[in-house]
Order: sequence, then C-alpha cells, then structure tokens
Amino acid sequence: MSNENIASGIKHKQIIARKFVLYLLISSALISVFVVSLQTYYEYDTQLANIESRFDDIKSANHESVINALWIADSQQINIILRGITQLPSIKYVTISEGPEIIYSSGNAPALTNSENNNLIVRSYSLYKNYQDKRIKLGEMHITASLDEVYENLITIGTKTFYHELAQMFIITVLIFIIFYKLVGRHLETMAQYARSLNLQELDTPLELDGYDRMQEEADELSHLVNAINDMRLNLKSSNQEKNSLIQSLASSETKFRGVFESAADGVLLVNQKGMIEMANATLLKITGFSEDELLNQPVEKLVPARFNQHKQFRQNYSKKPTRRQMGTDMVLAIQCKDGTEVPVEISLTPVETDTGTIIAAMIQDVTQRRQAELEKEKLLKSLESKNAELERFTYTASHDLKSPLVTISGFIGLLRNDIADGHDERIATDLDRINDAAKTMQQLLDDLLALSRIGRATAPLTKVPLNNLINDVLEMLTGAINSTGARILVEENLPTVMVEEQRFKEVFLNLIENGIKYHKNNVKPEISIGIHTNNNDGNGFVTLYVRDNGIGIKSCYYHKIFGLFDRLDHSTEGSGIGLSIVKRIIEVHGGSIWVESEGQNQGSTFYFSVPDNN
Ligand code: ADP
Repeated sequence: MSNENIASGIKHKQIIARKFVLYLLISSALISVFVVSLQTYYEYDTQLANIESRFDDIKSANHESVINALWIADSQQINIILRGITQLPSIKYVTISEGPEIIYSSGNAPALTNSENNNLIVRSYSLYKNYQDKRIKLGEMHITASLDEVYENLITIGTKTFYHELAQMFIITVLIFIIFYKLVGRHLETMAQYARSLNLQELDTPLELDGYDRMQEEADELSHLVNAINDMRLNLKSSNQEKNSLIQSLASSETKFRGVFESAADGVLLVNQKGMIEMANATLLKITGFSEDELLNQPVEKLVPARFNQHKQFRQNYSKKPTRRQMGTDMVLAIQCKDGTEVPVEISLTPVETDTGTIIAAMIQDVTQRRQAELEKEKLLKSLESKNAELERFTYTASHDLKSPLVTISGFIGLLRNDIADGHDERIATDLDRINDAAKTMQQLLDDLLALSRIGRATAPLTKVPLNNLINDVLEMLTGAINSTGARILVEENLPTVMVEEQRFKEVFLNLIENGIKYHKNNVKPEISIGIHTNNNDGNGFVTLYVRDNGIGIKSCYYHKIFGLFDRLDHSTEGSGIGLSIVKRIIEVHGGSIWVESEGQNQGSTFYFSVPDNN
C-alpha cells in the first residue's frame, strides 16, 4: 500500500461514526424544535383559554355589583371593584364609560399603537339597570387584557424545553458514539490496519478482533466479515502458492529453454511478424560478431547482405502463410556480419505460435567450412583433371621421346650386325659409340623424368633462405658456362629472404640462368639480370622475381608451350626440353606461378615467378 493510501486511511478514521453522530444531532435537534413548537402551541392555547375564562369570571362576579354601585353612584365602591379586577393576572386596564367619556378607570391605559394591538384582548360589557319595567343603560365597561405575559411565559417554557431536549439528545448521542466505537468503530480500525499490513509474504496470521471468539456459534455481522476476510486471506495464500509454483516451473522451463537455445550448435533467431528480432542466441552472436543489444528490436534485414534486396518482400509474403521450410534452396545464402563480411549459411524456418502472435524461428547453420571443403574439393578435382591431362601428355611425350633413342639403338644394332657380317671392323666402334650415346640420352631422359616425378613429394622442409646467398651458390655451379661464354650476371642487392625448399629453388635459378646463357644471340655475350618485379607486388604473401636475358627471345605463341614436357623450340642447342617443366612444377608446388614475356625474336626474354615471402 502506498503512503498516500495509508495517509488517506488515517484521515478517514471514524468518519462514519462522526457522520452518524452529526446526523443524529441534526435529526434530534429538528425533532426537539418540532416537539417544543407543539408544546408551545398547546401552552399558548391553554393560556388564551385561561384569559377567556377569566373574562367570564369577571363578568359573573362583578357585573351586578358594578351596576348596583353605578345606580347609587357609589364611586368608592366602583373604584374598589375596578382595582380588584386589574389585580387579576393579564388584566391591565378597566374603564367604565358613558358614551364616549370615561367616567371610571383603573390600571394603566395601554398605548394603542398598531403593533401593540395584537397583544391586547378587549372585552366590552353593557351596563343596564331594570327599573319600573324600564331598562336603563348606565354605561359600558371595557376590560383590557395583555398577552405580554403569556408570550414571556411561552418563551421561557419553550427555551427551557429546547435546552432540556438538546442536552438529553447530546448525552444520548455521546453514549451512542461510545457504544458504536466500542462495538463497531474500533473493530473497523483493526480490520483496516490488518488489510493495510497484509502482504503476500505474510499470509499466515489470521484477523482477530478484540473480544471476539472466532469459534462462537452465533456469529454477528462483524464475525461474518472477519470470517470472510480470513477466507479471502486463505484464498489469497493458496493462489499465491499456486502462482509461486507456476513461476518456479516457468523459471525452470525458461532455464531449460535458455540452455538449449544458447548451446545450440546453430545460430537461432526469433523474429516477430513485423520482422523485428526478438531473440538471438550466443552462436548467432558469435557468427555475426554483433552484441545482443545491437540486434534486439532491430529489423532482421540488418543481418541480410544488401544484394538480397528482395528479402523484405519475401519475408512479408512468407509471414502471411508461414510454414516450416528450408530458406532459399535454389541459391547460396549468406548472413551479414558486423565487420561487413559475409558468412555462407543454410537457414531453416519454423513458425512458432505464441500468445503475442506467430514468431518465426530461424535456424542458421554456418556452412563456411563445408563450403570451403567443397571449394577445395572442386579445386582438387580440377587439379586432378589437369594432372591427369598432364599425365596423359607426359605418357604420350615420354613414350614418344623415349622411343627415339630406342629406335636409334635398334637401327645401329642392325647396322652393327651388317658391319660384323660384312667384316667392316672399322665401323663397329662407331656403331657401338652411337648405341652408347643413344643409351646415355635415354638414361638422361629417364633421370630427368624421375626428377620431375619427385617434385611435389614432401622431401625437405621449407626454410628461410636469403635469395642473394642462394643465387651466389648457383652462380658458382655455373662458373664453367659463365666463363666459357663471357656471360655477365647482374643480381639485385638486398633481395628478400624467402620461405622455400632450398635445394629445389637452386634448381629453379640454375635452369633459368642456364637457359639465359644457352639461348644467347650469335656473337652477343649473354647478359642476365635478376631482381624483384615491383610492379606486380600483389601483397598476398608472395614476392615476384624476374630473370631477364638479352638472348634470342621467344615468340608469344610459345609462351605456354615452352613449359611443357620435352617441348623445345631450338633443336640446335643441347637439351632435353624438360628444364622449364621442372621449374614450373617447383614454383607451383610452392604455391606460386611462372610466366614469360618477350619483345620478340632476338629481343631477349624475361621469366617472372612468384615465391612465398618470409613475412
Ligand atoms: P631445354 O633447354 O633443355 O631445351 P627447357 O625446358 O629448359 O629445355 O626449354 C624449353 C625450350 O624453351 C627450349 O628448348 C628453348 O627453345 C626455349 N627457351 C628456354 N629458355 C629460353 C630463353 N632464355 N630464351 C629463348 N628460348 C628459351
């Protein structure tokens, strides 16, 4: 109960009792006035009747004596009689007149103003004397009575009675007030106090009234009220217990729901029919990077990448007739993260009926890893396909190129047979040399093939290799060729340290520098420069290097062909056509790529290749 109500409770204390007393006082006052008025009226009537009878008494007692005294003109007697009359109560003035002239009078002549006329009663009696059969008029007697005393009496009696009545009523009222308070008022106060202090935590104490036995058989109205209040308390207690157990079971089911909701492996989003997010679980927050506050009561479109611009329309259509289904089965779905990135997802929708309307539960599965695995699978399939094709080409070329020394050998064996049969001993040595050369060529081819097949198999770990050191080692290996051709090799200083398989990368530089020396222009000394290709620094963890020569150059139509197995453009020089294949393979195994550019024939060539940077 608020303070205001408590205050008003105190303010209204005993108002009924007070009202009761007030009404009682007013009504008793009115009754008193009525009773007093009635009594006064009767008193007035009686007093008037008394005056009238007094007039009658005067007439019967004095009329004859006055006539007789007048007849003998006994003025003394007349004055005595008149004085006697004025001694009577209310009789103020008596006159005897002859015509208009007053001949005898007694008492005080009243002032006959209009206003006072009402308080006077005048009675007139004619005075006749029967003499010798004649009736002789001696005069007129006027007796004046005043009502002043009557009125005074009435006022005194009325006032007394009124005060008496009032005092009586007051005492009765006070007694009634005390009795009312004792019987009802104080109990009402106890009830009010009990009701005010009643709260859901303390419903065990019953309401008890002072002097009331709860078990009494003949229950009065207050007992009924107390029993009703106690019944109400018990009802309140049991509903409160019910409510508490309901709250407990609600809390436990909420905990279970929360547990499942938050620990779900998939992101879960609850969206209302207006498209506003009502709940988002921890998994979803982890996927998107948003906090709960940043998502709650926000439109679900906050999580939809801008390119799905029809999402709102689709959502509105769906919410008209929501069903359980997979979302966007014909496209790759994604969810928008806080940092602007997208995460590929699969979403299933389930409508959930609640008391506030239908809620859509969206189960959002992060399929990044699956998608990556799929992409990797695709990549692997492609690389397998290309490897298959390469293998096919390889098998074809290998068998073709391996055949030629075999053909040479079988040809010279035939010649050898003939030369032996014909006795051309001098040719036998030459034939055997040719057979030996062809066998060596074949040996070389097989060695190269073996080398090529080995690349890609994990043989040595990647190490940090300073490029300048590595190139110096290679140049040392090439000292013979460099010196014999007078080649100039220019190496950029401060080349970076790269993360490579050192031995393999020596082969790369060896092949490229060797080719630069080998395919030089006639009468022009080879000049080879090595450095970093800054224009193509793509910043993806790779550094692009170049090996440039001033040699015979390569037509653009052969840019790809030269990297193929046994593909050679110039058959006048020594070589197997396998060197660039090996180089390409090594670069690719390290995750890089290689390509060649040339201005054309005799314009020199530049080989570019990317190498994993150490940084
Ligand atoms: P090989 O050098 O043994 O013939 P490679 O695979 O190293 O085999 O080279 C393949 C072919 O590419 C060579 O036969 C040659 O025609 C061409 N080639 C390679 N390097 C150069 C270069 N620096 N300048 C011009 N042509 C080149």
